[in-house]
Amino acid sequence: MTDVPFYLHSIEQEDIARAVEVLRSPFITTGSVTAEFESALARFLGVGHAVGLTNCTSALFLALKALGIGPGDEVITTPLSFVATANAILHTGAKPVFVDVDAGNGLLDAGRIEEAVTPRTKAILPVHLYGQMADMRRISEAADRHGLQVVEDAAHALEAARDGVRPGQLGTAACFSFYATKNITCGEGGAVAVRDGALSAKLKVARLHGLSSSAERRYSGGRYEHYDMEVLGYKCNMSDIQAALLLHQLEVVEARRARRAQIGKRYREAFSALDGVALIETPPNSTNACHLFTILVEPSRRDLVLRRIEARGVGVSVHYRPIHLMKYYRETFGFRPGMYPEAERIGAAAITLPLYPRLREEQISHVVESVRAALEG
Ligand SMILES: *Cc1c(COP(=O)(O)O)cnc(C)c1O
Repeated sequence: MTDVPFYLHSIEQEDIARAVEVLRSPFITTGSVTAEFESALARFLGVGHAVGLTNCTSALFLALKALGIGPGDEVITTPLSFVATANAILHTGAKPVFVDVDAGNGLLDAGRIEEAVTPRTKAILPVHLYGQMADMRRISEAADRHGLQVVEDAAHALEAARDGVRPGQLGTAACFSFYATKNITCGEGGAVAVRDGALSAKLKVARLHGLSSSAERRYSGGRYEHYDMEVLGYKCNMSDIQAALLLHQLEVVEARRARRAQIGKRYREAFSALDGVALIETPPNSTNACHLFTILVEPSRRDLVLRRIEARGVGVSVHYRPIHLMKYYRETFGFRPGMYPEAERIGAAAITLPLYPRLREEQISHVVESVRAALEG
């Protein structure tokens, strides 16, 4: 039986060589290689500035904090995401206010934002789920009408675009993940992209304890200089080892996206005619970053079908069981089933299949056959 792991990264000799080069150098944390990656990422996105961090959860948290969001504030977001999205809001002291998703594509429903706005609302936090961008034009129009910030969770969507707009081009900040299973990865890593230079400088101070910039110069310059601490910061600066692993992956990101798109097309063709399967819709005028390929099956059979696919040696996952139904959120905030029916319906029907450039032709065929057999059996 063909074994198909749920995910394999594409770290190659080239990436390893760059990381080794850093390891052989005298300075192995935030320095010139991180700066090189930040420039490359900003250029790739067409956004003024990027700040390298240890993960996307910290990126979301730092962005919200830098925008002054805290206790007493509300942030509108989607329940159909990884828990990190809403947890980052909670860590600032603010309250996540969930808005249900579009039934077809699972993205935060921009049409329902305004009914969730209160005098305490400070920001909207859309998630570009599966690699498809939320409707940033409508979201930023709503934000402008109510004087809100927009922080994008773009952990799935490095390569995405919609209506000619990319992550970070309309939002106040866009947050990226380079976690072990993301489109480019260094095991753990993240970044935040912003258009505003002053906000970028503030984030760079916040990622390193709140130390004055002279401290950063001290680290890279070699000559000792006193430093001061001007604000209370955190500790989530990207290291040059992480940055070295990402530089080459960013150079080949489009070729790898194209390969995932090709595999997604194969899946789409195979499953669109299949009884008992629905596919996630692609919004108009979109470039899909093709991060995850999720199928929707009858909720009452989901776990059975998932186990049957797994039994054929195919790795699967679920994106996502909604955040508001997690124990902590239910018990702390009193969320109940039925509050966000579209997110719950997708969460109960979803099965995510392997999607990465290293999948071989016979593995792709085996995934297709396994889904078919699992549904019939
Ligand atoms: C992976 C992920 C995160 C968290 O990323 P980390 O880098 O692991 O902190 C946040 N949001 C979404 C949608 C994710 O998939």
